[in-house]
Amino acid sequence: MSIRFDGRVAIVTGAGAGLGRSHALGLAERGARVVVNDLGAATDGTGRSSDAAQAVVEEIRAAGGEAMAHGADVASEEQVADMVARTMDAWGRIDILINNAGILRDKTFAKMALDDFRKVIEVHLMGSTTCTHACWPIMREQGYGRVVLTASSSGLYGNFGQAGYGAAKAAMVGLMNVLHLEGARDNIRVNTLAPTAATRMTEDLIPPDALALMAPEKITPGVLWLVSEDGPSRFIMGAGAGCFARARIFETPGITLTDDDLSPEAVAAAFDAMSDTEGQEALVDAFSQTRKYVANAARARGLS
Ligand code: NAD
Repeated sequence: MSIRFDGRVAIVTGAGAGLGRSHALGLAERGARVVVNDLGAATDGTGRSSDAAQAVVEEIRAAGGEAMAHGADVASEEQVADMVARTMDAWGRIDILINNAGILRDKTFAKMALDDFRKVIEVHLMGSTTCTHACWPIMREQGYGRVVLTASSSGLYGNFGQAGYGAAKAAMVGLMNVLHLEGARDNIRVNTLAPTAATRMTEDLIPPDALALMAPEKITPGVLWLVSEDGPSRFIMGAGAGCFARARIFETPGITLTDDDLSPEAVAAAFDAMSDTEGQEALVDAFSQTRKYVANAARARGLS
């Protein structure tokens, strides 16, 4: 079975460099028409240039593919609306959106300015939300959509000096969980990527011998599967150096205290029991948790 994107139209944000460039080239190589979005910013989000996006478009065209550049700032509603309108004018549909654009403003929380925190949230969370929101009605109308949100191990697991980045990246999981539920009936599938790759973002953070194994191209095959026709939904894919893994949030069965023993001391005493992973499950939606607790409470009171 070969995965192809003939007839599909994709937007890849931040595709002038690094991971986005690799995803855009990968999609085009397998038949997609690709909008190469990039603001042309420095790693900290400052500056602007259309050169990087245009260079990737030239690469795609030279290989026989179809692409166009757009320099929208993903966090600008107006510029994203223009990108979506131009895509629709040119190609009439949007099947795939890979939210990849990103910046870094690393500082320890004690030294961090709130403006830097806001900027990071704006590009990652509001940028992904703005682009997805603009494509959403088109995907619903088509009855087809594949969306990727780019998170990070910093958001899933934490990383020193990245409070804003970690918060924004963890928010991708929350956004995915809800969009997965809301998109399902219109065949819109939403997944999250947590990559680790050698790009300008990591060149000063990871030793050269490790970087040599971590080209962005080692991740793109996973992304192509996520946005393919038979791809999954609500999948958090960790990827790097050719490794692919699934991250999930599980909840333990937990313990139930009745009114007679409901106290902070009883909660403390139950630490091991509530941490016991035996029988843990990935809950399918928010009310599954409510139903579970109500059922447990009723059982503990002998009501069911
Ligand atoms: P990169 O700096 O090489 O590429 C990011 C691109 O996004 C740049 O070309 C930049 O111009 C563009 N961009 C920045 N702000 C933009 C905006 N407002 N609008 C449009 N484009 C904008 O970085 P990368 O390593 O390829 O990162 C890609 C994504 O992967 C980011 O979301 C990043 O946070 C995430 N990520 C990367 C790693 C890694 O190891 N490289 C790890 C975890 C997550």
